[in-house]
Amino acid sequence: MSSDCLFCKIVAGEIPVEFVYESDTVVAFRDISPQAPTHVLVIPRKHIATINDIAPEDEAVIGHMYTAAKEIAAAEGIAEDGYRTVMNCNEGAGQSVFHIHLHVLGGRPMTWPPG
Ligand code: 5GP
Ligand code: ZN
Repeated sequence: MSSDCLFCKIVAGEIPVEFVYESDTVVAFRDISPQAPTHVLVIPRKHIATINDIAPEDEAVIGHMYTAAKEIAAAEGIAEDGYRTVMNCNEGAGQSVFHIHLHVLGGRPMTWPPG
């Protein structure tokens, strides 16, 4: 837990958020500023600041973030039409919260390349 981290506070229940998915090692909740009809953030309970900070022992939880994402997509009804998962790394890529999170976006057509 990083005491000054917004997403650690959400994991700890200090900021009330409804989880759309939770397990022993990850939680997921709706983005406060949704960029698509479905916009969910999947985060590890463990504080990992950026992709650059992922350690070998984190490999299982990183994989689990994707199995969580696929279950969320199915529950949201976007699995067949398609959805996008994004994890930004550092400011240059648009990361604004330094506790890794997998964006799960769907419910509208997605363009490529992203901006
Ligand atoms: P990033 O820009 O780091 O890839 O994504 C951070 C995301 O967290 C943004 O999409 C932003 O809207 C979302 N966010 C920031 N603060 C909060 C919050 O307090 N609650 C929720 N649910 N989402 C947040
Ligand atoms: Zn954190």
